[in-house]
Amino acid sequence: AVPVALVAGLSRAAQFGVLVKGARPLEAMAHIRTLILDKTGTLTDGRPQITSVLPHADLPEAEVLRLAAALDQGSKHPVAQALVAEAQARGLHLPVPAGLTEHAGEGVSGRVDDRQVLVGGADFVAARIGATVSETALPMAADLDAGAVLVAVAVDGRLAGHLVMADPLREGAAGLLQALRRQGIARLLLATGDRAEVARRVTAGLGLDGVRAGLSPDQKVLLVLSERKNGPVMMVGDGVNDAPALAAADVGVAMGARGAAASAEAADVVLLVDHLDRLRPGLEIARRARGIAI
Ligand code: ADP
Ligand code: MG
Repeated sequence: AVPVALVAGLSRAAQFGVLVKGARPLEAMAHIRTLILDKTGTLTDGRPQITSVLPHADLPEAEVLRLAAALDQGSKHPVAQALVAEAQARGLHLPVPAGLTEHAGEGVSGRVDDRQVLVGGADFVAARIGATVSETALPMAADLDAGAVLVAVAVDGRLAGHLVMADPLREGAAGLLQALRRQGIARLLLATGDRAEVARRVTAGLGLDGVRAGLSPDQKVLLVLSERKNGPVMMVGDGVNDAPALAAADVGVAMGARGAAASAEAADVVLLVDHLDRLRPGLEIARRARGIAI
């Protein structure tokens, strides 16, 4: 039987919008040593705004955006949703894509208007079209603001353009991380599929113990497993690409309000409201429930 204090803890957590899937994760939450945070959609707001569209080939700006957004219509990734919103705001008609393949945490490929289109991170697109990263990352130095997210678009195997997006930290992120340390989290890490430059700029001044960038879903799992050697690990994420790492952690936490369904399924804890700061009452309630139960 589950001790009454744990049942009360589960119900109290739910009142804060923290869905804990049972007594085991609630108990495990009381002992977390290392917290690993995903970047896009978890530590950042996850509603990126497009700041510029940079065509490289002979295609006009609107055409680069239209092809990319059409392809990304079926994706739940925050970057994809930003593309579609911008295309709609510009009144662009988006045809239905064919032959879609989504590569979790990397990008999407498929056909739009009988053209082969590829949208995703600079490294991913470069690898797929056989270009070098420096070619696809050309506009970075000149056009990227601090922390800007860079998305590359290829059409029929050639680089067609870049989209630059701003994705700021969640409000109060710095204060939240300090508070979590006071609650006993000894080690704070960032794990992202995005580029190292973006990750470093976005997290500057947060006092993290480490930033791991360019990670595939499998590499996020390996990070969790290697950190578990030092004590219990909590991993927080929102994407399809985070799901395996959430499952590998002692406590996986999904950003449930706008995150991917796969991440909520893989997680032990789901934040039903879109506030990362719900981690605080979550940890507090877990510690108290344990104190009473013992
Ligand atoms: P994080 O791990 O920080 O949440 P992701 O791994 O989800 O970040 O995404 C990293 C990068 O991959 C994004 O910044 C974007 O460039 C690219 N990307 C991933 N999925 C898509 C998509 N559906 N459409 C366009 N770009 C994508
Ligand atoms: Mg994410």
